[in-house]
Amino acid sequence: MENTGKSSILVLGSTGSVGEQALDVAHKTGARVLALSANRNAKRVAEQARTFGVRACAMADAEAAKELRLLLADTDVKIYSGMEGICQMIADQEGEDQIVLNSIIGEAGLKPTIATLQAGKKLALANKESLVCAGEIVMNLAKEKGIEILPVDSEHSAIFQSLRSGSKKEIKRILLTASGGPFYGYTKEQLAKVTLADALAHPTWKMGAKITIDSATLMNKGFEVIEAVHLFDVTPEQVQVLVHRESIMHSAVEYTDHSTIAQLSVPDMRLCVQYALTHPQRTPAVIDELDLTRVGSLTFAKPDTETFPLLRVAINAIKAGGALPAVLNAANEIAVAAFLQEKIRLPKLFQVVENVVSNLEAEAKKEKTLEGIFHFDDLARTRANELIEHY
Ligand code: MG
Repeated sequence: MENTGKSSILVLGSTGSVGEQALDVAHKTGARVLALSANRNAKRVAEQARTFGVRACAMADAEAAKELRLLLADTDVKIYSGMEGICQMIADQEGEDQIVLNSIIGEAGLKPTIATLQAGKKLALANKESLVCAGEIVMNLAKEKGIEILPVDSEHSAIFQSLRSGSKKEIKRILLTASGGPFYGYTKEQLAKVTLADALAHPTWKMGAKITIDSATLMNKGFEVIEAVHLFDVTPEQVQVLVHRESIMHSAVEYTDHSTIAQLSVPDMRLCVQYALTHPQRTPAVIDELDLTRVGSLTFAKPDTETFPLLRVAINAIKAGGALPAVLNAANEIAVAAFLQEKIRLPKLFQVVENVVSNLEAEAKKEKTLEGIFHFDDLARTRANELIEHY
């Protein structure tokens, strides 16, 4: 599809880290922002709505929607409430060349992803859980509607860009880079002692709390393997995870002739947003220049899946398939929430996720329907909560 650079965007999850960065890109590139959605932060959404002159806003939380109605009472911005409201807002926006940027956190992003594809709108996807939980369903729907999903995850954006050098049948494998997080090189004993504050200090990327913890445990990299398998239609065996501490090479594609094409830049999510909005064109930079002489050297190593077991659990989950990746995600969401409340530490977080996944594997891997995925998502959350409470 030709991109005139005149796309209008809907930003879902507009008060989160990626959402705010997306609005910064929209501001710097002059893209039109049509609509916003967020969970609870009505005050911030009201400010954003006025800055960008949006048509509509949706709040997932019903109380926050009421608050936003009051805050924007002097405008004609249409306010929607709840998850159904978010999906309805997407369907209601009329006009050509719309891109929905989904940067909602967690499994909550899945229904809006489906609503976007059903409405026939382009999807810039920062919500990796849409693909982790229901990758086959989402990709089949995109194919049926003739919509290309534009990845807004630095690694997948890098792969997407590197894939312009060859055809699908020429891909040998994907090299998915990982920063390794703040605990790279730690032993199991050292990892057992880390605190919430340690885990929130990511060395190279500026991100929200949930994904920062997932990066520290390598769960995020596991999700990204699953995401890559679905987005680029490769096998789990074709995805090699490489620890690359500098976060300069954002991933690469190795072709059948052993030529490897990579994408490099300073680590800044705004480039991923910009590329998704302007693809297949490139427009003047919103991020800083990369000075390789200052970076000096780039290093690569294998990940340690003994100390950080969740990457291995994720690869096994995508190999098993069905609803098992959704189970993994749900158990992890609950365990990370408990870690963020300082109820549990990392060894317990790993144990909860591994237990729930192994207990539900036999049933979940056979499940392919969306209803079944939501059922197993629920079940996994209940099991994970039980394990945390009985700790
Ligand atoms: Mg990433």
